[in-house]
Amino acid sequence: MNGHYKFFNIPLPYPYNAMEPYIDEKTMKLHHDKHLQAYIDNLNDTLSKYPQFKDWTLEELLVNIPSLPKDIQTAINNNGGGVFNHQFYFSNLANPASWPPIGKIAEAINYEFGNYAAFQNEFKAAALSVFGSGYAWLVVNAVGQLEIITTKNQDTPLPLGMCPLLNIDVWEHAYYLKHYNLRADYIDDWFHIINWENVNQNYVSCFSI
Ligand code: MN
Repeated sequence: MNGHYKFFNIPLPYPYNAMEPYIDEKTMKLHHDKHLQAYIDNLNDTLSKYPQFKDWTLEELLVNIPSLPKDIQTAINNNGGGVFNHQFYFSNLANPASWPPIGKIAEAINYEFGNYAAFQNEFKAAALSVFGSGYAWLVVNAVGQLEIITTKNQDTPLPLGMCPLLNIDVWEHAYYLKHYNLRADYIDDWFHIINWENVNQNYVSCFSI
């Protein structure tokens, strides 16, 4: 979904103010045009010195980090992860949300967590538990079950053999302008703008590769 070098900043599939009042326009613009752009620029800069990886997709780079040259592993993890995590986050937002969860993902959530409210509680607790910067994720784990995990900084679930479905960015830059220090309020707002139709497509795709 991200192509390969040279990576570029795909425009958001909605206006910067589309997530109002849950996420403000200024945050969306800075987050996409400045924060994500910086990760893209740094990833391209790293890859420009390693032409042998120019045809690799972002996912291939991230899954294979342990086999990359030692001197670029951290840069690819941080900057490639920064690109993947942000594109994934933006792609799963919709306002109004596609609600309620539909299809296979709805069945899987009920099977794994009991019901949507229980899932929401567990996901929120995970997102609150991230110390410092990182993400909470809903993934399909290596044995095909739904699982909620957290990652630090710009780590991704890909090297863990997990297939990501949904993520929330809990770096302060994702919410500080509107929600200040109140991460819990940002998480509550974010639950209003999840694109469950897209999450369901992600879920189906996890079993078709
Ligand atoms: Mn971010």
